[in-house]
Amino acid sequence: MAGLYVHVPFCAQACSYCDFHFTTRLDDRSRMVDALVSEITSSLKDWEGEVFKTLYFGGGTPSILGPQAIGRIARAAFDHAEWALEEWTVEANPEDLTLEVLGQLQGLGVDRLSVGVQSFDPVVLKWMRRIHSAETAETAVRDAAEVGFKHISLDLMYGLPVGGDGRWQDDLGRALALPADHLSCYILTAEPRTRYGHQLEKGELSAPPDDSVVSEYNALCAAAAQQGYEHYEVSNFARKGGRSRHNSAYWEGTPYLGIGPGAHSFRGGARWWNVRSNAAYLKAAGTMDFSNQQTHEVLDNTNRYNESLITGLRRLEGVCPEKLLETTGQRLEAHPALPGLLDRGDCEWADGRLRIPEPRWPMGDAITLELIL
Ligand code: SF4
Repeated sequence: MAGLYVHVPFCAQACSYCDFHFTTRLDDRSRMVDALVSEITSSLKDWEGEVFKTLYFGGGTPSILGPQAIGRIARAAFDHAEWALEEWTVEANPEDLTLEVLGQLQGLGVDRLSVGVQSFDPVVLKWMRRIHSAETAETAVRDAAEVGFKHISLDLMYGLPVGGDGRWQDDLGRALALPADHLSCYILTAEPRTRYGHQLEKGELSAPPDDSVVSEYNALCAAAAQQGYEHYEVSNFARKGGRSRHNSAYWEGTPYLGIGPGAHSFRGGARWWNVRSNAAYLKAAGTMDFSNQQTHEVLDNTNRYNESLITGLRRLEGVCPEKLLETTGQRLEAHPALPGLLDRGDCEWADGRLRIPEPRWPMGDAITLELIL
């Protein structure tokens, strides 16, 4: 079983914190769609015998392509591989989700929308350089549910350097009142080469203190649990049946093929990724040779062990030591740092698996660092 990811590298405007791969020059969109279709048809030849279960359009802003182009790319994928489709997600920004577009996406067979809401506070949205208003986001989500989407995920951000007291509680209240079944809530990090990164460097803004971020995290966990959301991964919460299948499969080490500039793929202990440049990617598409622009890496047992811990310890289910031993030859129980972590309550055993307890997840990276090789 496998997943297919399509990266759409376009956005209407650059958000102040974002370092994903995208361009705001939209004139190459139709050439890019042709290139994505070409890469799908040529790459899927190497995946014969694999059954694909999930399709995910991410970005960038996939909804900026419109339903017709999204449908054309998906058709190429459906025509050139064997599918037992369980989930088809499209990431979308609220301003693109008119009733007409929502109806067309549903008509294609898209069954899950991941909507970039980020905040409902007008001051925050302006600082983030988001195009939509809070009301546009709320209308888009309500319309999506009205049209019949059963799976709707909202992206939100906390740990922000702007917005007043109570901003996060208001955001949570408005998000949890919407007809969604999934929340992805990320702590804002300052990446170099972003507007936010520059503002911190120049001293124009200060990052919020750790204790205020932890208190926002605790407020999030409490409010989500009260509304019936399960906290199944550090940044992800789902109502019953609402977990992201595509991302869950990725965290479990299922093979996936990534299409588009900057997209990563993983299969059989190897990983490879496309060039993070639209121009170089389009050039490769012109020669129909996508392998020339890719970087390949074979993961040894130590790398695989470390990656399994990094993704597994972010999950409610944690890590299975037997599976780790079988796939990497490494014995987690024998790690010298483990007794101390267990004593301090930074890790715990549950159903034979090792996990980090939910209250310690904000410190999860530091805890995981003690266990990796
Ligand atoms: S956050 Fe989303 S919409 Fe904003 S620049 Fe990044 S990818 Fe584009």
